[in-house]
Amino acid sequence: MGAKTDRLCKLLGEILDLDHASALLGWDQQTYMPPGGAEARAQQLSTLSRLSHDKFVCDEFGAALQAAQAEVAGLPLENDDAALVRRTARDFNKQRRVPSEWVSEFSLETGRAHPIWEKARAEADFAQFKPALETIVRLKRDYAEFFQPYEHIYDPLIDDFEPGMPTRQVKEVFDVLRPQQVELVRATKERGRPVSDGPVRQAFDVEKQRQFGVEVITKLGYDFKRGRLDKAVHPFTTSFSLDDVRITTRYDAGFFNDAIFSTIHECGHALYEQGIAPGLERTSLATGTSMAIHESQSRMWENFVGRSRPFWVAFYPRLQGLFPDALGKVKLADFYRAVNKVEPSLIRVDADEATYNLHIMLRFELELELMSGTLAVKDLPEAWNTRMRDYLGITPPNDAKGVLQDVHWSFGGFGYFPTYAMGNLVAAQLWERINKDIPDLATQIERAEFGGLLTWLRENVHRHGARYYPVELLQRVTGQGLTPEPYLRYLRAKFGEVYELH
Ligand code: ZN
Repeated sequence: MGAKTDRLCKLLGEILDLDHASALLGWDQQTYMPPGGAEARAQQLSTLSRLSHDKFVCDEFGAALQAAQAEVAGLPLENDDAALVRRTARDFNKQRRVPSEWVSEFSLETGRAHPIWEKARAEADFAQFKPALETIVRLKRDYAEFFQPYEHIYDPLIDDFEPGMPTRQVKEVFDVLRPQQVELVRATKERGRPVSDGPVRQAFDVEKQRQFGVEVITKLGYDFKRGRLDKAVHPFTTSFSLDDVRITTRYDAGFFNDAIFSTIHECGHALYEQGIAPGLERTSLATGTSMAIHESQSRMWENFVGRSRPFWVAFYPRLQGLFPDALGKVKLADFYRAVNKVEPSLIRVDADEATYNLHIMLRFELELELMSGTLAVKDLPEAWNTRMRDYLGITPPNDAKGVLQDVHWSFGGFGYFPTYAMGNLVAAQLWERINKDIPDLATQIERAEFGGLLTWLRENVHRHGARYYPVELLQRVTGQGLTPEPYLRYLRAKFGEVYELH
């Protein structure tokens, strides 16, 4: 490493230490912190995020960055220094526009909002959360203004999670997806052989569910020496270094799908982070390159692998052994259909693959309206319920099962939701490539052999960390930009078979 880049890395390392300390406090906040700790924790997180921000955007850092830029000029992106300096410059130029008072206030307000959201959700009472959400929406609109001129007020927000992805392009892709997914859902309902989810809606002992989840993700390649699994209201993954990548999940004693697919999903995120090249540790490249690429990993493991027939060929006998009363007499074919039942439902994280993106488009459209100022926070529950009726044909019985279900708005994650749907599309694009490169993948999965798949992902996606922007990575691996066709092909093939539509 050149001397100037080395200097930059030293400064950056201290900033990342602060960020990882924040992440640890955040992990604790969502797992073990007693409710009484909320206000002090919000203050602590606010202080750390302001310190990190101030150290990042200061003139000393700017000068070090400039010197490093001169040092790496002309080097290709395959060079660690060049990639690191480019990514750091992008982040610096964004954050430099944001005043530290805003950072501090935003962190404090979102820290306070989290327990308020939890309580409002538990009591199904949107009114309790409304004032906090109004503050967060105002702060996010202020944030967008720091990035004038923009084409759409939502552009700077989505760019935080998905570098280089304009709102316009997301809309175009969603406009192709929406009618075709609505049509597929209708076909399963009107022409499909009905699927019963009775097998997965029985009593499942929570401790045994946990044990099964641990066995599964160990097989998938999750390294427990460099991670751990805990419970959280809203499952998430977080990392404090490449060797400490933690996941969380939740359990429903009456519905098997919830815990296992959440666990595999978060494991998918963690495999990405655990697979980043060790040489990138403690730099801004030691993370996934974007949320859509991250979601492509979690959704691929959760759905393309975890909800596939070969996967259950491998794991169903063990599951029957753990739950002989519930599953002893249920045939594999019926169990497989049960975990893939298509049914418009209220909760995004429990949604099947055919309806999932509709939940995302609903949130995306509401966020666009909130940010544009055409929808007020007080009208949000009604707007939510109206769209649920339009897209999915159902109405939430209360706000907990509607507008309050997701944690994202409490932490100000506007711009985050569309990356879930994009992640599905990217997963399908990668999946087509993977199946060309590993023709006997299904057979490997039937034998619970995941080494081939994981090695492919490590080589093509994981090890690069944030070296390439998401569009660059996708081009390198698939030769294409973001496109909905592979996902639509995947959905039609899978649900055509599950529902016997042909
Ligand atoms: Zn995820």
